[in-house]
Amino acid sequence: MIACSQEHNWPAGMAGMKVMEVMQDLPKDKAYLSYIPFPTELCVLCAGRVKKGLQPACVQHCMANCISHGTIEELAKEMKGKKRTVLWNPN
Ligand code: SF4
Repeated sequence: MIACSQEHNWPAGMAGMKVMEVMQDLPKDKAYLSYIPFPTELCVLCAGRVKKGLQPACVQHCMANCISHGTIEELAKEMKGKKRTVLWNPN
């Protein structure tokens, strides 16, 4: 979210990516907490950066390395064998 805001000179909180916090209650007073990157309508896929051969800002700066960018074919190949992946196509 921060990389996106800075890349596009948007104010804090305005971004093409939001990180959603999802809490699942489990038995025995336990819980499972997940953080899921979720694209918003503001995402322009960093068209300017990609045109220059760079990765989108969120992909480049994601410290968990949990976001990839590419063609559907490339991403589908990358997803094979990985658990809990999501493919997002803005077009
Ligand atoms: S691809 Fe670019 S515009 Fe889209 S969320 Fe990532 S940094 Fe923001």
